[in-house]
Amino acid sequence: MELYKENQLKIYNSLTKTKELFKPVTEGRVGMYVCGPTVYSNAHLGNVRTFMFFDVVYRYMLHLGYKVRYVRNITDAGHLENDADAGEDRISKRARLEEIEPMEVVQRYTVDFHDVLKNYNFLPPSIEPTATGHIVEQIEMIKEIMDKGLAYEVNGSVYFDVLKYNETGNYGILSGRKIEDAIHNTRVLDGQSDKKNPQDFALWKKADERHIMRWPSPWSDGFPGWHLECSVMSTKYLGEQFDIHGGGMDLKFPHHECEIAQSQTCSGVTPVNYWMHTNMLLLNSQKMAKSTGNYILPNEILSGENEVLPKAFSASVVRFFNMQANYRSILDFSGEALEASEKGHAKLIEAVNFLDKIEAGKTSTFSVEKWKKDCYAAMNDDFNTPVLISHLFEAVKTINQIKEEKASLSADDLADFKTTLNAFVFDVLGLMNESSEGNNSDKLSGVVEMLIQMRKQAREDKNWALSDEIRDKLLALGIQLKDGREGTSFSIN
Ligand SMILES: [Zn+2]
Repeated sequence: MELYKENQLKIYNSLTKTKELFKPVTEGRVGMYVCGPTVYSNAHLGNVRTFMFFDVVYRYMLHLGYKVRYVRNITDAGHLENDADAGEDRISKRARLEEIEPMEVVQRYTVDFHDVLKNYNFLPPSIEPTATGHIVEQIEMIKEIMDKGLAYEVNGSVYFDVLKYNETGNYGILSGRKIEDAIHNTRVLDGQSDKKNPQDFALWKKADERHIMRWPSPWSDGFPGWHLECSVMSTKYLGEQFDIHGGGMDLKFPHHECEIAQSQTCSGVTPVNYWMHTNMLLLNSQKMAKSTGNYILPNEILSGENEVLPKAFSASVVRFFNMQANYRSILDFSGEALEASEKGHAKLIEAVNFLDKIEAGKTSTFSVEKWKKDCYAAMNDDFNTPVLISHLFEAVKTINQIKEEKASLSADDLADFKTTLNAFVFDVLGLMNESSEGNNSDKLSGVVEMLIQMRKQAREDKNWALSDEIRDKLLALGIQLKDGREGTSFSIN
């Protein structure tokens, strides 16, 4: 029997602000859409937190035996800096600055995004559609909205008529904004705005001469509004009504609010059954900002090449750290907190690695059944990973007691214990068994250890150039050195 049949999963729905029993549209199947990155710059750590959480949601759904279609888009058409309504779009601005093709920018940062996800052990989504690959469908949806009388054209641009939608619909249903406050800040050029009302948002914008990314449409040569692509791609791949839509909480308004209005207009039904939003991420208790220097790229955490953390941390430690906080709480990223997580992570992995050396006893002194139930109960309670981790540490305690011959597990219990612990640590949380990664090749480990010793000697000789060269060349090969109090360790990506 599939595990989902015996697990009552509850999800906190941002739309109703309550935890609700998860009931998929189609039994045994889950459709999930998560708003992906805009690929005009390097992957942002705050976004990585969001994607990492939904990676765990995806992993847990798969673990429960659901067939999951997970769609995470790539925003490559470029949305406008000023709330998708006016000004130069971000991707063409970057392209102009760097004097390269917009699609070159897109390609560069898509590759960077995938590199980050690979380093952090993400499962790829089932479909990763791009906005530029769905221009035709976006034009079709605009036509449909115009046919329903809820969009109008002015000077080659098309806007969604929010006030008219609100005569029967409920704009603000997700964000809780009142219609009079739900204003889309449009840069008003020369006191002119094409929109009928400040609440309206663009579905299509006519491109001015400077705008490089443009497509023909019945209204003008232009480009789609940002909110539209997610309505189009979620409907295309998951249907008019699907299970889960996720994103960072900053996307609730206007992005998700606009998605609901667009989709509901076309289909007449509520598009999403469970809205999930992750909270924000702070760095050293402050908002991350390039301008203040309180900023770090996800890959810089791994390399240690940054000004804000005391040393490098492994991807698995960062995953573990992320999962120690509930996704609906603010996460404060700091060197101190990561160091604490590193210790906990090492204890957990060490215990898991000891599992194979454990021999079954005659009886069990630990209730595996109850522990297992607790682990599932934590995840079934709106993916409460910090509580799950506390139960994983009960397992660590038991393993250590068995080591000291103060506890035992029967053969059946031991088998169940091993399977469950491995499943939660590696399959669900996506942690990596760093200490065993080198075991594939003892020779490789030996060579790296030798280089670590040579680097240590170089440092003692104050030959910094050589010590840096050893570190950098290993990193280029995907071997990362980590300096800690107990010496230098390494991980292989
Ligand atoms: Zn979106």
